[in-house]
Amino acid sequence: MQTKRRNWRFKKSFLVFCAVAGALIILLLSLLIAREMRPPTSSVDPNGAAQGQMEQLTEDNQSKPEPSGEEDKPTAPLSTLSPTEPPTTLPPVTDPNEKVLYLTFDDGPSKNTTKILDILDQYGAKATFFVIHTYDGCEAQIKEIYERGHAIGLHSYSHQFSIYSSVDSYFKDLNQISDLVYNAIGVRSKLVRFPGGTSNTISRNYCDGIMTTLSQELPKRGYYYFDWDWDSTDASDNQVGADTIYQNSIKAAQSGDSHVILLMHDAPIKTTTVEALPRILQYYKDQGYRFDKLSETSYTYHHNPNN
Ligand SMILES: [Zn+2]
Repeated sequence: MQTKRRNWRFKKSFLVFCAVAGALIILLLSLLIAREMRPPTSSVDPNGAAQGQMEQLTEDNQSKPEPSGEEDKPTAPLSTLSPTEPPTTLPPVTDPNEKVLYLTFDDGPSKNTTKILDILDQYGAKATFFVIHTYDGCEAQIKEIYERGHAIGLHSYSHQFSIYSSVDSYFKDLNQISDLVYNAIGVRSKLVRFPGGTSNTISRNYCDGIMTTLSQELPKRGYYYFDWDWDSTDASDNQVGADTIYQNSIKAAQSGDSHVILLMHDAPIKTTTVEALPRILQYYKDQGYRFDKLSETSYTYHHNPNN
Protein backbone atom coordinates (compact mmCIF):
# COMPACT_ATOMS: atom_id res chain seq x y z
CA MET A 1 0.00 0.00 0.00
CA GLN A 2 2.83 2.40 0.98
CA THR A 3 4.76 1.53 -2.19
CA LYS A 4 1.71 2.11 -4.38
CA ARG A 5 1.19 5.55 -2.85
CA ARG A 6 4.88 6.44 -3.32
CA ASN A 7 4.73 5.40 -6.96
CA TRP A 8 1.65 7.54 -7.51
CA ARG A 9 3.34 10.57 -5.95
CA PHE A 10 6.40 9.99 -8.10
CA LYS A 11 4.25 9.71 -11.28
CA LYS A 12 2.34 12.86 -10.30
CA SER A 13 5.56 14.84 -9.73
CA PHE A 14 7.01 13.56 -12.99
CA LEU A 15 3.88 14.61 -14.95
CA VAL A 16 3.90 18.09 -13.36
CA PHE A 17 7.59 18.44 -14.17
CA CYS A 18 6.98 17.38 -17.79
CA ALA A 19 4.07 19.80 -18.15
CA VAL A 20 6.06 22.72 -16.74
CA ALA A 21 9.15 21.87 -18.78
CA GLY A 22 7.03 21.47 -21.95
CA ALA A 23 5.32 24.77 -21.35
CA LEU A 24 8.68 26.48 -20.81
CA ILE A 25 10.09 24.95 -24.02
CA ILE A 26 6.99 26.03 -26.00
CA LEU A 27 7.24 29.54 -24.52
CA LEU A 28 10.94 29.73 -25.35
CA LEU A 29 10.38 28.51 -28.91
CA SER A 30 7.51 31.00 -29.37
CA LEU A 31 9.72 33.84 -28.21
CA LEU A 32 12.51 32.78 -30.54
CA ILE A 33 10.13 32.49 -33.55
CA ALA A 34 8.48 35.82 -32.72
CA ARG A 35 11.89 37.50 -32.57
CA GLU A 36 12.86 36.09 -35.96
CA MET A 37 9.59 37.24 -37.58
CA ARG A 38 9.57 40.77 -36.11
CA PRO A 39 11.65 43.38 -38.01
CA PRO A 40 13.92 45.27 -35.63
CA THR A 41 12.29 48.67 -34.97
CA SER A 42 15.57 50.54 -35.41
CA SER A 43 16.01 49.42 -39.05
CA VAL A 44 12.85 51.02 -40.52
CA ASP A 45 13.06 54.57 -41.90
CA PRO A 46 10.05 56.92 -42.17
CA ASN A 47 9.65 56.10 -45.85
CA GLY A 48 9.32 52.40 -45.15
CA ALA A 49 12.66 51.40 -46.61
CA ALA A 50 14.75 49.14 -44.49
CA GLN A 51 17.85 50.84 -43.18
CA GLY A 52 19.96 47.95 -44.35
CA GLN A 53 18.85 48.60 -47.92
CA MET A 54 19.49 52.34 -47.57
CA GLU A 55 22.99 51.69 -46.37
CA GLN A 56 23.53 49.35 -49.29
CA LEU A 57 22.42 52.09 -51.72
CA THR A 58 24.70 54.60 -50.05
CA GLU A 59 27.60 52.26 -50.44
CA ASP A 60 26.74 51.71 -54.08
CA ASN A 61 26.69 55.46 -54.61
CA GLN A 62 29.99 55.92 -52.88
CA SER A 63 31.58 53.35 -55.12
CA LYS A 64 30.62 55.37 -58.26
CA PRO A 65 32.30 58.64 -59.19
CA GLU A 66 28.89 60.23 -59.96
CA PRO A 67 25.54 59.03 -58.61
CA SER A 68 23.25 58.23 -61.55
CA GLY A 69 20.44 60.36 -60.08
CA GLU A 70 22.51 63.53 -60.52
CA GLU A 71 22.26 63.28 -64.30
CA ASP A 72 18.53 64.03 -64.13
CA LYS A 73 19.03 67.34 -62.38
CA PRO A 74 18.96 70.30 -64.82
CA THR A 75 21.89 71.99 -63.11
CA ALA A 76 24.41 71.50 -65.90
CA PRO A 77 24.77 74.24 -68.53
CA LEU A 78 22.71 73.40 -71.60
CA SER A 79 25.81 73.35 -73.75
CA THR A 80 27.01 70.23 -71.97
CA LEU A 81 23.77 68.30 -72.44
CA SER A 82 23.77 65.54 -75.00
CA PRO A 83 21.65 66.03 -78.14
CA THR A 84 19.31 63.25 -76.99
CA GLU A 85 18.06 65.42 -74.13
CA PRO A 86 15.38 67.73 -75.62
CA PRO A 87 16.22 71.36 -74.81
CA THR A 88 12.58 72.42 -75.15
CA THR A 89 11.78 71.13 -71.66
CA LEU A 90 14.47 73.26 -70.05
CA PRO A 91 14.69 77.04 -69.85
CA PRO A 92 17.73 78.65 -71.48
CA VAL A 93 20.54 78.93 -68.96
CA THR A 94 21.77 82.47 -68.55
CA ASP A 95 24.47 83.51 -66.15
CA PRO A 96 23.56 86.95 -64.75
CA ASN A 97 27.24 87.68 -64.16
CA GLU A 98 28.05 87.16 -67.81
CA LYS A 99 27.43 89.87 -70.42
CA VAL A 100 26.53 88.75 -73.94
CA LEU A 101 25.64 90.69 -77.07
CA TYR A 102 23.74 88.77 -79.73
CA LEU A 103 24.01 90.81 -82.92
CA THR A 104 21.27 89.95 -85.42
CA PHE A 105 21.20 91.03 -89.05
CA ASP A 106 17.95 90.81 -91.02
CA ASP A 107 17.08 91.13 -94.71
CA GLY A 108 20.44 90.06 -96.20
CA PRO A 109 22.60 88.80 -97.70
CA SER A 110 23.99 91.69 -99.71
CA LYS A 111 27.28 93.43 -100.48
CA ASN A 112 27.08 94.89 -96.97
CA THR A 113 27.14 91.39 -95.49
CA THR A 114 30.66 90.79 -96.79
CA LYS A 115 31.89 93.98 -95.09
CA ILE A 116 30.07 93.04 -91.88
CA LEU A 117 31.74 89.59 -91.85
CA ASP A 118 35.17 91.22 -92.05
CA ILE A 119 34.39 93.60 -89.18
CA LEU A 120 33.03 90.74 -87.05
CA ASP A 121 36.26 88.80 -87.70
CA GLN A 122 38.34 91.71 -86.45
CA TYR A 123 36.52 91.48 -83.10
CA GLY A 124 36.34 87.69 -83.01
CA ALA A 125 32.57 88.17 -82.92
CA LYS A 126 29.86 85.70 -83.90
CA ALA A 127 26.41 86.87 -85.00
CA THR A 128 23.12 85.64 -86.40
CA PHE A 129 21.85 86.38 -89.91
CA PHE A 130 18.09 86.04 -90.55
CA VAL A 131 18.18 85.75 -94.31
CA ILE A 132 15.75 86.32 -97.15
CA HIS A 133 15.94 85.63 -100.89
CA THR A 134 17.72 88.86 -101.87
CA TYR A 135 18.81 87.69 -105.34
CA ASP A 136 19.10 84.52 -107.38
CA GLY A 137 22.30 82.79 -106.35
CA CYS A 138 22.45 84.31 -102.85
CA GLU A 139 23.09 80.75 -101.58
CA ALA A 140 26.84 81.27 -102.06
CA GLN A 141 26.85 84.22 -99.67
CA ILE A 142 24.71 82.36 -97.13
CA LYS A 143 27.21 79.50 -97.31
CA GLU A 144 30.07 81.92 -96.66
CA ILE A 145 28.33 83.41 -93.59
CA TYR A 146 27.80 79.89 -92.23
CA GLU A 147 31.34 78.72 -92.96
CA ARG A 148 32.75 81.75 -91.19
CA GLY A 149 31.08 80.49 -88.01
CA HIS A 150 27.85 82.49 -87.79
CA ALA A 151 24.27 81.28 -87.37
CA ILE A 152 21.81 81.29 -90.25
CA GLY A 153 18.19 81.96 -89.33
CA LEU A 154 15.07 81.97 -91.51
CA HIS A 155 13.42 85.36 -92.00
CA SER A 156 11.29 85.02 -95.14
CA TYR A 157 11.67 84.13 -98.79
CA SER A 158 9.62 87.02 -100.19
CA HIS A 159 9.49 89.40 -97.19
CA GLN A 160 5.98 90.37 -98.36
CA PHE A 161 3.56 90.94 -95.50
CA SER A 162 0.92 89.07 -97.50
CA ILE A 163 2.55 85.90 -96.09
CA TYR A 164 0.41 86.68 -93.03
CA SER A 165 -2.82 86.00 -95.01
CA SER A 166 -3.07 82.51 -93.51
CA VAL A 167 -1.09 79.86 -91.64
CA ASP A 168 -0.62 78.01 -94.94
CA SER A 169 0.72 81.03 -96.81
CA TYR A 170 3.14 81.78 -93.95
CA PHE A 171 4.53 78.26 -93.92
CA LYS A 172 4.68 78.09 -97.72
CA ASP A 173 7.02 81.11 -97.63
CA LEU A 174 8.98 79.76 -94.64
CA ASN A 175 9.49 76.41 -96.39
CA GLN A 176 10.83 78.24 -99.47
CA ILE A 177 13.52 80.06 -97.48
CA SER A 178 14.19 76.88 -95.48
CA ASP A 179 14.87 75.02 -98.75
CA LEU A 180 17.10 77.83 -100.02
CA VAL A 181 19.15 77.78 -96.80
CA TYR A 182 19.31 73.97 -96.86
CA ASN A 183 20.62 74.07 -100.43
CA ALA A 184 23.24 76.60 -99.33
CA ILE A 185 24.56 75.00 -96.14
CA GLY A 186 23.16 71.45 -96.05
CA VAL A 187 21.49 72.05 -92.68
CA ARG A 188 17.83 72.72 -91.81
CA SER A 189 17.85 75.92 -89.76
CA LYS A 190 15.25 75.96 -86.99
CA LEU A 191 15.88 79.59 -86.02
CA VAL A 192 13.17 81.98 -87.18
CA ARG A 193 12.47 85.69 -87.05
CA PHE A 194 9.09 86.96 -88.22
CA PRO A 195 9.15 89.83 -90.74
CA GLY A 196 8.16 92.80 -88.56
CA GLY A 197 8.65 90.72 -85.40
CA THR A 198 6.02 88.87 -83.39
CA SER A 199 4.53 92.18 -82.22
CA ASN A 200 3.94 93.60 -85.72
CA THR A 201 0.53 95.15 -86.41
CA ILE A 202 0.79 95.17 -90.22
CA SER A 203 -0.42 91.56 -90.21
CA ARG A 204 -3.83 92.83 -89.00
CA ASN A 205 -4.39 93.97 -92.59
CA TYR A 206 -4.16 90.35 -93.75
CA CYS A 207 -5.58 88.06 -91.05
CA ASP A 208 -7.00 88.59 -87.58
CA GLY A 209 -5.01 86.83 -84.84
CA ILE A 210 -2.40 85.40 -87.22
CA MET A 211 0.63 86.35 -85.08
CA THR A 212 -0.88 84.71 -81.98
CA THR A 213 -1.51 81.55 -84.00
CA LEU A 214 1.91 81.50 -85.68
CA SER A 215 3.84 82.14 -82.46
CA GLN A 216 2.17 79.03 -81.02
CA GLU A 217 2.50 77.01 -84.22
CA LEU A 218 6.24 77.52 -84.81
CA PRO A 219 7.40 75.75 -81.60
CA LYS A 220 4.96 72.90 -82.32
CA ARG A 221 6.71 72.42 -85.67
CA GLY A 222 10.16 72.39 -84.04
CA TYR A 223 11.16 76.02 -84.72
CA TYR A 224 12.63 78.56 -82.30
CA TYR A 225 11.65 82.17 -82.98
CA PHE A 226 13.57 85.20 -81.83
CA ASP A 227 12.56 88.81 -81.47
CA TRP A 228 14.91 91.53 -80.21
CA ASP A 229 15.10 93.36 -76.92
CA TRP A 230 17.02 96.33 -78.33
CA ASP A 231 16.74 98.06 -81.71
CA SER A 232 19.63 99.78 -83.49
CA THR A 233 16.87 101.73 -85.33
CA ASP A 234 18.74 101.27 -88.61
CA ALA A 235 15.42 100.37 -90.29
CA SER A 236 13.49 103.38 -89.04
CA ASP A 237 14.46 105.14 -92.27
CA ASN A 238 16.32 104.23 -95.46
CA GLN A 239 19.61 105.78 -94.39
CA VAL A 240 19.74 106.44 -90.67
CA GLY A 241 22.96 108.26 -89.69
CA ALA A 242 25.77 106.03 -88.41
CA ASP A 243 26.02 108.06 -85.20
CA THR A 244 22.30 107.62 -84.47
CA ILE A 245 22.63 103.86 -85.04
CA TYR A 246 25.65 103.79 -82.70
CA GLN A 247 23.92 105.82 -79.96
CA ASN A 248 20.79 103.67 -80.08
CA SER A 249 22.78 100.43 -80.22
CA ILE A 250 24.76 101.12 -77.05
CA LYS A 251 21.67 101.98 -74.96
CA ALA A 252 21.37 98.34 -73.86
CA ALA A 253 24.85 98.37 -72.31
CA GLN A 254 24.24 101.79 -70.78
CA SER A 255 21.10 100.45 -69.11
CA GLY A 256 23.07 97.51 -67.67
CA ASP A 257 21.25 94.78 -69.61
CA SER A 258 23.45 91.67 -69.45
CA HIS A 259 21.87 89.71 -72.33
CA VAL A 260 21.15 91.76 -75.42
CA ILE A 261 19.60 90.72 -78.73
CA LEU A 262 20.22 93.72 -80.97
CA LEU A 263 18.22 94.24 -84.17
CA MET A 264 20.28 95.34 -87.18
CA HIS A 265 19.98 94.95 -90.94
CA ASP A 266 22.34 93.94 -93.73
CA ALA A 267 20.04 94.81 -96.61
CA PRO A 268 21.73 96.37 -99.67
CA ILE A 269 20.82 99.92 -98.61
CA LYS A 270 22.11 99.67 -95.01
CA THR A 271 25.59 101.10 -95.55
CA THR A 272 25.42 103.23 -92.40
CA THR A 273 24.94 100.08 -90.33
CA VAL A 274 28.30 98.87 -91.63
CA GLU A 275 29.75 102.28 -90.80
CA ALA A 276 28.45 102.17 -87.20
CA LEU A 277 29.34 98.53 -86.49
CA PRO A 278 33.03 98.84 -85.46
CA ARG A 279 32.21 101.51 -82.87
CA ILE A 280 29.33 99.42 -81.52
CA LEU A 281 31.54 96.33 -81.18
CA GLN A 282 34.32 98.36 -79.54
CA TYR A 283 31.90 99.88 -77.01
CA TYR A 284 30.44 96.51 -75.99
CA LYS A 285 33.91 94.95 -75.84
CA ASP A 286 35.08 97.73 -73.51
CA GLN A 287 32.05 97.10 -71.31
CA GLY A 288 33.05 93.42 -70.93
CA TYR A 289 30.52 91.83 -73.26
CA ARG A 290 31.25 88.77 -75.34
CA PHE A 291 29.67 88.35 -78.76
CA ASP A 292 27.72 85.21 -79.53
CA LYS A 293 25.27 83.74 -82.01
CA LEU A 294 21.75 82.59 -81.20
CA SER A 295 20.96 78.90 -81.04
CA GLU A 296 18.20 76.49 -80.10
CA THR A 297 19.45 76.57 -76.49
CA SER A 298 20.61 80.18 -76.20
CA TYR A 299 19.04 83.14 -74.48
CA THR A 300 15.90 84.21 -76.32
CA TYR A 301 13.47 87.08 -76.28
CA HIS A 302 9.84 87.14 -77.41
CA HIS A 303 7.53 90.07 -78.09
CA ASN A 304 3.88 89.68 -77.21
CA PRO A 305 1.74 89.34 -80.33
CA ASN A 306 -0.39 92.39 -81.13
CA ASN A 307 -2.58 90.50 -83.53
ZN1 LIG B 1 12.94 92.00 -92.26
